[in-house]
Amino acid sequence: MIQITMPLNFLGTVYREIRQALIDMGDMFDLLEQPAEVNDKPDAKPLVVTGGAISLHDVAFGYDAARPILKGVSLDVLPGQTVAIVGSSGSGKSTIGRLLFRFYDVVGGALTIDGQDVRDVTQVSLHSQIGVVPQDTVLFNDTVHYNIAYGRPVATEGEIIAAAKAAKIHDFIMSLPEGYATQVGERGLKLSGGEKQRVGIARTLLKNPPILLLDEATSALDTQTEMEIQAELKAMAQGRTVITIAHRLSTIADADQIVVLENGVIVERGTHDALLVADGRYAQLWNRQASDETV
Ligand code: ADP
Ligand code: MG
Repeated sequence: MIQITMPLNFLGTVYREIRQALIDMGDMFDLLEQPAEVNDKPDAKPLVVTGGAISLHDVAFGYDAARPILKGVSLDVLPGQTVAIVGSSGSGKSTIGRLLFRFYDVVGGALTIDGQDVRDVTQVSLHSQIGVVPQDTVLFNDTVHYNIAYGRPVATEGEIIAAAKAAKIHDFIMSLPEGYATQVGERGLKLSGGEKQRVGIARTLLKNPPILLLDEATSALDTQTEMEIQAELKAMAQGRTVITIAHRLSTIADADQIVVLENGVIVERGTHDALLVADGRYAQLWNRQASDETV
């Protein structure tokens, strides 16, 4: 008897587990009923960037319906302006960048570039017009040359060297045993955080996009390296529309406009000076970081 009930109990447990798994999968499919990935519309046109104006009109978004992340964000970035987004971790800053790239579609409102809704243009054209420098530049297990040329595979040798010089990484590359042919990445030469970010900047300079998204591009670097890379980023920002997401406020004090995002809502906006005078959330963050840095 015992010999037969044991396996039956065991089967009962397995059955319950399978049933539970199916129920969980059912929940998952409900979640995925919102479009899981975005597709080009049949009549999608290439994005035409004239000045690079970016507008968020009352943008609402959540990764799942039960949890709103952006709750009506409106923001105008004028052509050639640099707008900085600051705010606590988890407030939705990077999400704005993902929506600009159309990794996801907004749930409410709209996001436009030079008046064209990102949902109406081809993703290939959209991605070709936006350069991203993330916190950690991903290097491929390939040569330095390949890693820079990835920004524009048809680039000439001269263009690659010019981009590397502008990113202040050319001299370092020439000091490597095989120069531009040196293997880097996991299985090759490991570059420092600052060197990797310079490769990322060279890659983006080569791509030469009218719009830049800098998502905590220097926040993983030490203060000295951060200052050096900031200088290159500032040079790259010239003549482009830039959205910069910043952790250290000292790096964005000269932005044309600073917006403070908290829990998916813009709670303050203005220039650095105006926000300090306003003595609100930004001033509080600024004073806290200033005192941290003197410790
Ligand atoms: P920030 O960049 O301001 O630190 P994010 O925009 O990355 O914040 O994230 C905002 C919120 O959305 C966070 O609570 C985060 O956990 C959540 N989130 C981010 N990405 C995803 C995802 N792919 N799926 C579900 N939730 C996510
Ligand atoms: Mg982020």
